[in-house]
Amino acid sequence: QRQMCIRDRCCRRRRPSPVNSLSISTSLLFPRHDFFFTMAHRQKVLLKVIVLGDSGVGKTSLMNQYVNRKFTNQYKATIGADFLTKEVMIEDKLVTMQIWDTAGQERFQSLGVAFYRGADACVLVYDVTNEKSFRQLDSWREEFLIQAMPRDPENFPFIVLGNKIDKPQGERRVGRAKAEQWCQEKSKPLPHFETSASANTNVQQAFQKIATMALEQDDGYVLLESATSTAMCNWLAT
Ligand code: GDP
Ligand code: MG
Repeated sequence: QRQMCIRDRCCRRRRPSPVNSLSISTSLLFPRHDFFFTMAHRQKVLLKVIVLGDSGVGKTSLMNQYVNRKFTNQYKATIGADFLTKEVMIEDKLVTMQIWDTAGQERFQSLGVAFYRGADACVLVYDVTNEKSFRQLDSWREEFLIQAMPRDPENFPFIVLGNKIDKPQGERRVGRAKAEQWCQEKSKPLPHFETSASANTNVQQAFQKIATMALEQDDGYVLLESATSTAMCNWLAT
C-alpha cells in the first residue's frame, strides 16, 4: 500500500507515524501530513491536473465545460477558485481529478510554485484561430518542466488541445496536421485533440485521456480514503 503526500514530493516516502506526543508536535508543524496518513486507508486516487496556455485560449471554459457541463460567453479572467474537482471512474479506480486553473496570471507567465507543485498531468491549450497561442506551447511546456520538476520529464503526461474549432473555418490559423506534427516531434509523442468548449466537442474525451495517462504513469499520485477524499483534497490544497 502506497501512502504519499500531495504537497511535497520530498516527503512522499514518509511512513505513517503513531499518534503520540511526537506526532502531535509534528502535526502542528505539518498538520496536513499527519491527518493524511491517519485518514488514508482504502484507496481512491487524487490526480492534480494543471491547465496551461496563453490567456484567452479557453482554459477556464474547457474546465468549466468538463466539470460543470456549462459554457458561458462572458469573459472571466478567473473563476474565483484555484481548482475544480471532478470524480470519474477509470477502469476500476475512482479518480478525483483536481483541475487547476490560472487566474489570469498566465499573461505574465508567472504562476508560482504552488500551482505546479505535485502535478500529475498537464494540459497544454492553444486556440486554433490564434497562431501565436500555438507557437507559445513550447515555452509553456518548458516552463512546466522547469517549475514542476517531474521525476521523469521525458515521460510526463502532457496532452495538447487545439480549442475553438466551432469558429468559422476562415478564422482558422493552425491546421490540424501542423499541430499533430509538433506533437509527434516530441521525444514521446503527445496526444492531440481539437476541441470546442462552447460546443462541447472532445472535451470529455480529452480529460478522460489525460487521467488515463496520469494513472498509467503511476508516478506517486495520491491515494485517498473514499469517504473523506473530497474534503481532503480541498483541505490539502489550501
Ligand atoms: P482562458 O483565458 O484561457 O481561461 O480563456 P477563457 O475560458 O476565459 O475564454 C476566453 C474567451 O474565449 C471567452 O470569451 C470564451 O467565451 C471564449 N471561448 C472559450 N472557449 C471557446 C470555444 O470553444 N469556442 C469559442 N467560439 N469561444 C470560446
Ligand atoms: Mg482563465
